[in-house]
Amino acid sequence: MKGVGPAKKKLFGNLGVETVEDLLYLFPRRYEDRTSMTAIKDIRIGEYQTVCGKVMAHKARRSWYTKKHVSEITIYDGKSKLVCVWFNQPYLERYFKAGSEVVLYGKADVYKDRIQMVAPEYEIIDSEQDKSLHVGRIVPIYPLTKGMTQRYLRRVIYNCLDKYEESLTDYLPVWLRNKHRLSNIKRSLRNIHFPESFQEQEEAHKRVSFEEFFLFQISVIKRRMSIVQKTGVMHKIDLDLINEFASLFPFPLTNAQNRVIREIAGDMQRPSPMLRLLQGDVGSGKTLVAFFGCLAAVKNKQQAAVMAPTEILARQHYENICRIMDYRLRIKGSADYRIKGSKDQRSKGLKENDVDSNPQILKSSDPAFSNPLILKSFNSRMALLTSSLSKKEKDRMLADIYDGNVDIVIGTHALLSERVEFKKLSFVVIDEQHKFGVCQRALLSEKGMNPDILVMTATPIPRTLSLTLFGDLDVSVIDEMPPGRGKIKTEIYDFENEADVYQEVKDRVKKGQQVYIIYPIIEESQKLDLKAAKAMFDSFAKKEFKEFRLGLVHGQMKRKESDTIMQQFKDHKIDILVATTVLEVGVDVPNANAMVIEHAERFGLAQLHQLRGRIGRGKEDAQCLLLAQPDTEDAHARLKAILSTTDGFEIAEQDLLIRGPGHYFGRHQHGLNELKYANPVTQIDILQAAREEAQDVVHKDPNLKDDQNRALKQIIQERYPGYLQNVEAG
Ligand code: ADP
Ligand code: MG
Repeated sequence: MKGVGPAKKKLFGNLGVETVEDLLYLFPRRYEDRTSMTAIKDIRIGEYQTVCGKVMAHKARRSWYTKKHVSEITIYDGKSKLVCVWFNQPYLERYFKAGSEVVLYGKADVYKDRIQMVAPEYEIIDSEQDKSLHVGRIVPIYPLTKGMTQRYLRRVIYNCLDKYEESLTDYLPVWLRNKHRLSNIKRSLRNIHFPESFQEQEEAHKRVSFEEFFLFQISVIKRRMSIVQKTGVMHKIDLDLINEFASLFPFPLTNAQNRVIREIAGDMQRPSPMLRLLQGDVGSGKTLVAFFGCLAAVKNKQQAAVMAPTEILARQHYENICRIMDYRLRIKGSADYRIKGSKDQRSKGLKENDVDSNPQILKSSDPAFSNPLILKSFNSRMALLTSSLSKKEKDRMLADIYDGNVDIVIGTHALLSERVEFKKLSFVVIDEQHKFGVCQRALLSEKGMNPDILVMTATPIPRTLSLTLFGDLDVSVIDEMPPGRGKIKTEIYDFENEADVYQEVKDRVKKGQQVYIIYPIIEESQKLDLKAAKAMFDSFAKKEFKEFRLGLVHGQMKRKESDTIMQQFKDHKIDILVATTVLEVGVDVPNANAMVIEHAERFGLAQLHQLRGRIGRGKEDAQCLLLAQPDTEDAHARLKAILSTTDGFEIAEQDLLIRGPGHYFGRHQHGLNELKYANPVTQIDILQAAREEAQDVVHKDPNLKDDQNRALKQIIQERYPGYLQNVEAG
């Protein structure tokens, strides 16, 4: 491209633009209607608007209060004057030469009886040629990188369109465009960048969104086909097994749990591998359901694996599963103890009967409880594969897994390592889907004979999204909490009423209850936040709560340290636990039924929901006290949402509306980072139409071999390589 030398090329790189196609697909983040500018005399206070005029004068001064350098530039539109102010950018005075024409976009406010704009976006228009591109029309405003200006980028893209629009490939076949009244790609891209009207721009956006949904859905559907075509293990599961499983627990399973167990059992009996997403709020009893699949696999003389995103979670699953074993042992009359044995005994494996008669038993409060060991009970031997194993222990465990001496393996993504080989893996549980990508899922399934895969997530995913995100998965939902749980009351306080909140804490502790106090640590300001959290803790310990036992846990602590404190809290040796967000994935303490969240306005909605899920686990009603000073619209909306409901799905819908899909799941998530322009929430009808067409195309031409689909195939291969590995294999 003319005008793009090596230096500029680097800047384009920052914007993710490497090719001409990338450049044409670098879409404006907004548009400015410069067909009619606001006259300075008509400026509306508090609103964003575009004005233009000539630079008259500039003045520099120093703010007496903040000591900042202040540049004041006055512009004149032929009738009235407007002062614009910038701080600490003295070079601007040279940039805005008297007499040059400028376009400004910003919010007007009143300062000392004068209307002004503070740090508006600006463009200097310096030639007639420029003028036709930058004023008197709807003008695109792009995302920029340092060293690049709107004017430059607009010019390059304009030239690029002129030069290359004829050679653009249209990935949507003509019949499809006609059917859905979508314009061709050339017209669409022109109208995305330089629309004559906003209606044209909207139509163009619809077209590119359709294209994006369509391509992505084809890849998702093909992937699903390739998996379903494979042959896995046909498990034998009868009603007896389901009943036997249910009898392991001292409580009846919920209807939702029973339903999902049947869904999973149905899938496991079929030859084609299961690929199922299990959604349910924290505490809804997912782990138990997932464990049914594991036991069913073991009963069929196969192995099962459970993969968690963190060690803490892996450990927790292991402990939970062991606890389920405890019930079994209790039924056998042996209280809540588990086997302990020398390494020899362990590796030899104990018979089920030995469990009851073995004097060497381990109490579940024993710290060794969470040590990796192979446990034989309910005829299943379990192993916790973590990084804290010694090399020797690890080798031993790997050998046991390989030889089939272990039935259920629980671990982190270390399970994906090449060194882990199973004898006959037929069931895999992946916890917290959104932390793993599609490729990892594929890796794990390669470890067995196309095992059945159950993906669990506590992040409630609205229907609208699961279609896009998990179009290649079946979905099961646990939408019912185990009975007998108390309600959670959520209240909001501003900082002035802090004392009331702390009084509530004291009252509860005096009654023998425990309380969480949560402090936010935001990634961008980690150090400062940690300091603030520690300072708050110290002040609590010295003043507010000096008569109580306090503990502090935060993310920068060694695992051992934080584990010790968590354990002390569990054992009620601590009354008040001050914690940063590490608690999200933390412990279950039924006696802790109140939570204070400091600076609640700084937390994301999903985070608040997860945190609050830590309380209300017992029979008593729980209380969540938010200390907040919301200062943005979004913060208000988030707090309103968390106050209005405890339903995770409703909260997820709200969050999507407030923030848009990309943010809800974080930046690197499957399915959403693949979508750049299209928005599955606001464009659900386009998504559905595109999905139907995609299904049709794949149905008619599964391998995309037809001439008319060749371009499709190529672009999908380029864009979604993770999805294609398997498609090709299938
Ligand atoms: P999740 O994995 O969805 O967060 P868990 O499976 O860990 O939930 O269950 C949370 C708690 O609820 C556990 O202590 C579990 O024993 C208990 N639980 C699970 N199902 C039931 C049920 N049907 N009735 C009563 N308690 C249950
Ligand atoms: Mg869980």
